Amino acid sequence: MEIVGEFYIKLKGVLAMINKISKVFFMSLSKNNVLNNGAKKWGLRLGASQVVAGITIQSMIETVRKLNEKGLVCTVDHLGEFVMNKEEATQSTNICIQTLEEIAKTKVKCNLSVKLTQLGLDIDKEFCFSNMIKIMEVAHRLDIFVRIDMEDYSRKEDTLDILAKLRKHYSNVGTVIQAYLHCAESDVSELEGVSLRLVKGAYNESEKVAFKDKEEINKNYLKIIEQHLMKGSYTAIATHDHYIIEKVKEFTKVNKISNSQFEFQMLYGFRTDLQEKLVKEGYTTRVYVPFGKDWYGYFMRRLAERPQNISFALKGFILK
Ligand SMILES: Cc1cc2nc3c(=O)[nH]c(=O)nc-3n(C[C@H](O)[C@H](O)[C@H](O)COP(=O)(O)OP(=O)(O)OC[C@H]3O[C@@H](n4cnc5c(N)ncnc54)[C@H](O)[C@@H]3O)c2cc1C
Repeated sequence: MEIVGEFYIKLKGVLAMINKISKVFFMSLSKNNVLNNGAKKWGLRLGASQVVAGITIQSMIETVRKLNEKGLVCTVDHLGEFVMNKEEATQSTNICIQTLEEIAKTKVKCNLSVKLTQLGLDIDKEFCFSNMIKIMEVAHRLDIFVRIDMEDYSRKEDTLDILAKLRKHYSNVGTVIQAYLHCAESDVSELEGVSLRLVKGAYNESEKVAFKDKEEINKNYLKIIEQHLMKGSYTAIATHDHYIIEKVKEFTKVNKISNSQFEFQMLYGFRTDLQEKLVKEGYTTRVYVPFGKDWYGYFMRRLAERPQNISFALKGFILK
């Protein structure tokens, strides 16, 4: 028995190490500009088509339509990496506007997610804000909600600042708060009444600003979810974690929180079984649908997050 116990502990250690190495490996691949540029020429490869809804707005709309038929609603994200100049940021802004117009024209049940770095945040904050205003003007006219994704900690203050300025004019805009950050609880309380997507957090942050321990992150995640729900604010719980989802279902039942005050969100191609089950149970479930020729970095980050997803890549490799 003792030998089996020892073997199990060693095996766990080896698996944790492999997990860590593959995380670092895929994160570094995701930042490789040469591979990213190459990938634009390949088209969707390596199994990416299972988690990215094609290169064009038309292919994305087709995917959204199919998800809508299953009772799922969507939010779409035009993938973009390495925006280096104002011209590229303007192009991204225009694609967001075209996407909004196509959503309205085709009447799919879908809203828009955007990343401020794609709209020029790292180049010039005021310029980025003016691009957001252009997007919000169209979204407001077409009555479509816009969610500002949260990027790494170094961009958090600017993101919340731009959100606050936008909310003076538009109510159909919200953002994301990451539970791994120590400041998550105070940020959520500042944002009472704002529609928030709450997530565990996807970036590799320093322990000075973020919890590193999975249990601590889960604890803080449930805490901020309950905090926002109890304030009566609209809450999107974006996770594939069955344990968290069950806790939220339980909490909302006990506290008589209506299903119309919250929704679950998951990424396109992940836990499709669970997505459809939640719909059948009467919960609004939104699928985050990425599209566009810049699929490579997004796909590598998903592999880094959960190396088990490599099976997607292998299947894709064999199929191509
Ligand atoms: C819709 C959406 C939007 C997001 N937006 C942002 C954002 O703006 N900013 C940001 O920093 N992060 C964002 N994220 C990413 C998020 O922060 C997490 O990094 C990511 O969701 C992984 O954490 P998790 O909660 O899904 O569960 P994890 O902690 O990765 O997994 C917990 C458990 O869930 C189960 N599980 C997880 N994935 C799977 C799977 N594919 N198949 C089977 N079981 C699985 C397993 O049991 C696993 O042990 C977003 C995530 C989603 C779903």
